[in-house]
Amino acid sequence: MSDRLILLSNDDGYFREEIRALFHRLKDLGRVHIVAPDREKSATSLALTLRHPLRVQKIRPRVHAVDGTPADCIFVALQKILPRPPDLVISGLNPGPNLGQQDVHYSGTVAAAVQGTFLGIPSMAVSMIPRPAGSFDLDFAVRVVRDLAVHILSRGLPKGVTLNVNIPPPPVKGAKITKLGLKFYSPEIIERKDPRGASYYWIGTGNPRRLGDAASDVQAAYRGYISITPLHADRTHYRALKGPALKAVAKAPRLSRAGDL
Ligand SMILES: [Mg+2]
Repeated sequence: MSDRLILLSNDDGYFREEIRALFHRLKDLGRVHIVAPDREKSATSLALTLRHPLRVQKIRPRVHAVDGTPADCIFVALQKILPRPPDLVISGLNPGPNLGQQDVHYSGTVAAAVQGTFLGIPSMAVSMIPRPAGSFDLDFAVRVVRDLAVHILSRGLPKGVTLNVNIPPPPVKGAKITKLGLKFYSPEIIERKDPRGASYYWIGTGNPRRLGDAASDVQAAYRGYISITPLHADRTHYRALKGPALKAVAKAPRLSRAGDL
């Protein structure tokens, strides 16, 4: 297995202890590279930098920092840094959950893994749920990621599937394959004045309400299970596609006027 190539990224910065822990603890599974943002890039989703040049800094052998987004990092890594396409992309470990539909859409951690899938590489995003007091069990989470990495390196993943993994602190009851649940945020916009008297705004999220049934990632993870959700990029709403509600929408563009057709 030592000829394997593993790419690590995150949305918190190449310097974070969580990604460094993975770098050291996955070394015997293959050649591990870090290509990650040079600063925190949380909630940047799949943003790509199109209007500015990207700079890459070699920090030390097999560790590179990019002044871009997590998705930029995966692009640059695959095309310019790695000697060949990796066998596995791991994004994380994020110090905080990425659970439910909204988190998954906003998350830069999840996006780096989705970008890996877009480029045809088996990919997973990994996040940690804190203990009630707020701290994380990084050692335990690294062991879980390692076990999953060993499995994926030998068995692969179904084509087009990105794994979104959330790891609660031990003791855990086991691991569950889950669907996305919901966390209901009521985002608060905090208004303050800058030193010149002009208003500025800060998006705060507060504590979300957790919704979703027992099969959801949100409920499973907070009931003490490692949550593993298979994601795909097809955002088509199939029930709406087949149902009658949108038929009228297709008739709304009035193309019968002269010259339309
Ligand atoms: Mg983060």
